[in-house]
Amino acid sequence: MAYTIKKWKLADLFPGYDSPELQAAFDNVEEEVASFEGVRGKLKPDMDADQFMEVVRASESTTRIVNRIYAFAGLSFASDTQDQAAQSLLGRVQQFAAEMQNRTLFFSLWWKDLDEANAERLMSNSGDYRYFLEEMRHFKPHTLSEPEEKIINLKDVTGTGALVTLYDAITNRYVFKLQVDGEVKEMTRSELMTYVQGTDPDLRARAYQELYRVYSEDGPILGQMYQTRARDWHNENISLRKFANPMSVRNLANDVPDEAVTALLEVTKKNARIFQRYFKMKARQMGLERLRRYDIYAPVAKSEKPFEYNAAAEMVLESFTAFDPKIGELARRVFEQDRLDSEVRKGKQGGAFCASINPEDTPYVLVNYTGKARDVATLAHELGHAIHAMLASHHSAFTFHSSLPLAETASTFGEMMLTEKLLSEETDEAVRRDILFKQMDDAFATILRQVYFALFEREAHAMIQKNASVDEISAAYMENLKEQFGDSVELSDEFKWEWVSIPHIYHTPFYVYAYSFGQLLVFSLYQQYKAEGESFKPKYLKILSAGGSEAPAKILSDAGIDISSTKFWQGGFDVLSRMVDELEKIPAAV
Ligand SMILES: [Zn+2]
Repeated sequence: MAYTIKKWKLADLFPGYDSPELQAAFDNVEEEVASFEGVRGKLKPDMDADQFMEVVRASESTTRIVNRIYAFAGLSFASDTQDQAAQSLLGRVQQFAAEMQNRTLFFSLWWKDLDEANAERLMSNSGDYRYFLEEMRHFKPHTLSEPEEKIINLKDVTGTGALVTLYDAITNRYVFKLQVDGEVKEMTRSELMTYVQGTDPDLRARAYQELYRVYSEDGPILGQMYQTRARDWHNENISLRKFANPMSVRNLANDVPDEAVTALLEVTKKNARIFQRYFKMKARQMGLERLRRYDIYAPVAKSEKPFEYNAAAEMVLESFTAFDPKIGELARRVFEQDRLDSEVRKGKQGGAFCASINPEDTPYVLVNYTGKARDVATLAHELGHAIHAMLASHHSAFTFHSSLPLAETASTFGEMMLTEKLLSEETDEAVRRDILFKQMDDAFATILRQVYFALFEREAHAMIQKNASVDEISAAYMENLKEQFGDSVELSDEFKWEWVSIPHIYHTPFYVYAYSFGQLLVFSLYQQYKAEGESFKPKYLKILSAGGSEAPAKILSDAGIDISSTKFWQGGFDVLSRMVDELEKIPAAV
């Protein structure tokens, strides 16, 4: 079969916005929630284990319908962000879900408050739901009373939620101007950023300068919004919920021990010099004295070989099948069931993602395919996510979704498999060189850069508690960059505004280290694969098929990995160091 660029088929979820099926789903949730409210009086410490499981299953049933409605609204909106019907459906679903959440809140509060002996008695009978139930209880020491929790939920809609929406509204409206081929063009941020990966050094510099010219104009306001976000985080999580520090909130949600995250951050800091060595070598490859910050994503070779879509799809599928035919088969299903939206069109959401809805559904994947080498890698990445969810389809709706630290495993591994295949087939030396350097550029962007963002967040949150001004925070950001790059890269002053341009630190504080976690984990898994060959495969598939049914540390320790040991993380960097050694052997093209 030939694969062609097309839109996905959302009708498999619901036939349309006004369809009776969609309305029936809303009604169904209402009914189920009303009946769920009836179990409130039956929740007793000594309640029957089977009766308890009925309550859990009832809650799962409602979650499944909500997941489906949410997916339909969210994917319709991603399909066309300018479609008012999709926009208003999304708004309706968000409001609806918040109301339903508040009406059923009593269950999780009761569960968290239940004594240890009875909780253990009920969990021992809960099969696949066990980890979900266990994890909820981890939050017991940080949970408030029902009226307090309800007030926080409601006030977040118009407080932090609104603040973050406002940040998005302001920054997504920015128009950037760049002179290209003698003509001034107006563009979005993602269009502007394609120039920093281009071959023209002057254009790379001007693109970054324009980016931070625009952000710096609003710098004090965006900085103030960040200060507010950080204060709110502190007020809620430290003052009210009594977390030990701002980052441990995220660690508990990820169910990763604080020591493991500290080990990851410290080991990464110690290995910054590997990337510094890489940037110095890249400068030599490009015939430059030293890289400017503008140049770090520049290509080392002028290879702009386009990839036709069908060939790209075949290449990804073949690389998956070569690893394991079952994986290739699962990925093929995403194409064959029209779950993949590959088309570039106006109003469609940029970038790429994979949405897994319920365990039994084939996931939906969105990419914007333009034929660049990067797009082929993205296809492998997102299909990797889809495979991860499909391998875990035997779990419940609460436990099939992998937790954040493991979420990037299959996707990153998928990219590695593709790179391997590309390198084994590519004969053009310039293209090969470019593939290898791009792999290091990506490793920098997902590992070192993200860890330094997390280190910055930790510092900025502390500074804000001491009433630091926006300029003081910018100065701290600049120091963070200096430590990250050492003398390997020439920094210019406008990068002090970079922090106000990172949506993640506004949306989901301390999210970013999960990227480094995932990428380093995969480097280490890939090393194991190279060393062990066939015998590695069942171990890897077991990690993926666990989904989110156990703690990440447990899933990985079953595969012989100890995430709290600095030695494990160092292993990932040793792989990177050897990659730089290999690249150094390649003669410069100049
Ligand atoms: Zn991903």
